[in-house]
Parts: sequence; C-alpha cells; structure tokens
Amino acid sequence: MLEPLLRIENLSLGFRSEGKITPVTDAVSFEVREGEVFGLAGESGCGKTVTCLGLLRLLPAATSVVLSGHAWYRGRDLLSMNAEEMRAVRGREISMIFQEPSAALNPLLPVKTQLLFPFQQHKNSDLKGREPLQRIRDLLVCVGFRDPDRVLRSYPHELSGGMLQRVMIAHALLLEPKLILADEPTTALDVTIQAQVLDLLAELQRDTGVGVLLITHNLNLIAQYADRAAVMYAGRVVESGPALDLLRDPRHPYSRGLLDALPNLDTAQVPKSIPGSVPPPGKYPTGCRFHDRCPRVFEPCTTDPVWSEPAPERRVACHLYSQTVDGSR
Ligand code: SF4
Repeated sequence: MLEPLLRIENLSLGFRSEGKITPVTDAVSFEVREGEVFGLAGESGCGKTVTCLGLLRLLPAATSVVLSGHAWYRGRDLLSMNAEEMRAVRGREISMIFQEPSAALNPLLPVKTQLLFPFQQHKNSDLKGREPLQRIRDLLVCVGFRDPDRVLRSYPHELSGGMLQRVMIAHALLLEPKLILADEPTTALDVTIQAQVLDLLAELQRDTGVGVLLITHNLNLIAQYADRAAVMYAGRVVESGPALDLLRDPRHPYSRGLLDALPNLDTAQVPKSIPGSVPPPGKYPTGCRFHDRCPRVFEPCTTDPVWSEPAPERRVACHLYSQTVDGSR
C-alpha cells in the first residue's frame, strides 16, 4: 500500500505554563493520502489548529510540548527533524494557509516582497533568475487576478479579505508543495467569496494532485470538498470515515450536533445549536469528553469510549457502539 503523505499516530500535544503541562490534544490519529482532500472538523478550541501548528513546529517552543505519538511526512519522522530539516520541509513540501490572511502577511511589506521570500528562503528551488517572479505572476492569474502586477505592488491593507486569501493560496502553492494545510481558509470571507476560494482550491488540488488537509467547523464544506474526514472534540478525534457518509449519516452525537447546527435548505429545518461550549484544555471532563453536552448520555459515558467500526471505513469513539476495534480509545 502507498505510504500516505501525512500520517499522524496517537499524537498528544500540551502547553507548558508556570512549570505545569496542560494536555491539549490526546492521541490524535489520521492520515492524508496523496491527491486527496482530508477534512478535519470540529468547533473552535477542539485542537484542530494546534495539531497542524504542532506538526510544522509553529507553536512557540518554550510553551508547547509533544507528550507522545508520531507524525510522518512521506515516511519521514516530522517530530525528530532538526530545525534545518524542518525548514526545508515547511513551505517547500508542506505549506499552510492560515485563517486570517491579514495577520499572516506583513502589513509593512508589498505583496511582491512577501511572495518572493519563499524562493529566497529555499535556495534549492528549481526556479532561478526572473523565473520566480514569473511563477508568482502565473499563480496570481491562476487564483483569479487579472492584473497580477497591481497586486504585487500593493500592500496588504490595499487588498480586500477575499483578495488577501487568494494571495495566501498563491503563496501556499509557490514551491509546488505536496501537501497544503488549509486552516479555516474562508472564515474571514463572506459566503460568495468563500465558495469562490474553496472552488479555486479544489480546482488547483485536482490540477496539481496536491494533498489538502482542510480544517473547518463546517461539515457541509467537508462533504462538498473532502474525500475523507475526521471530527475532533476537546482534543480528541471522535469519528472518522468517508466525508459524504459522515455527512449523510453521522454516528457520533457530536457530529450529529454539528450537522444539526447548520441551516438545511432541503428540509428547511431550524438549526439547533449544541448546548454548552467546548471545555478548555485543563478542564476536559473525565470519560467521554462530550458527556455533559450529549443528548444521548447514559451510564457508561463516565468512562472513556473505545473505537468501534459501525460500518466499513467508519470509526467512532462512543459507547453507543460497543464493538472494540483495536482496544485503544
Ligand atoms: Fe454521548 Fe456517551 Fe457517546 Fe459520549 S459516549 S457521545 S456521552 S453517548
């Protein structure tokens, strides 16, 4: 079987503060295969972004710690790479699109300077001389700019949110990475631009065969754009499977709740929010971490649920499904 682009196994990350370590994510496992979009869903604060930032060592080293687990990129151990090896992978092999393009770009530098930066940083790029600038122009056209030179001359504050996010997508593709981590790439945009940006990302993904890890709180986007997906709650993956199956028939009560919270134009059903909120790290309940918000809570839920496989390729960690797959949580 082909080695996946990204494989994360039982990865637990924590934050260090005042000499104390607080676990943030717990035994997170999933893989992103070559040429697929893998969706990672869940409310804000469930550990999706922390997992991504941790993989790329973008969390502050002084306050974050890998508690256990592994992460491999094309079979290479990401967590044991030294700083230089990591820099060579970051941007060139794996790139990231951040939630807030205006925060990811330097307000004091024109777009051109910022888009040329990756080529200066990765001197082993195959492009030389004026070729990087031409690639930038081509990519800006590719992401929908008719006048790329105007964009290159602009400072971030001169561009709209949608334009900035397009610049960030072009930025992520500059060095032809094999994997893009797209963290809520459309959160800051209105719905029309959201659809344009995601369609564009999907088109580029199909054309280039790049793997995408799409992080979002919106299960509809997962169903529309992802091949497979996982749902995270309070630092844990609670369900995974083919994206469409997950949307049509969510098994975990949390996934069901995420879906019911979305407007449904087919049924005109009024969206129902999940009562309560995601507990912060350090305040995770014992047993099933969703039990104080779950409409189907019952006696066993005060203990940790184990993984079950209720259907082919479907995995769920919930006491409603009793069959253990591998004995792990
Ligand atoms: Fe709800 Fe219990 Fe399943 Fe947790 S284990 S999601 S509390 S039914």
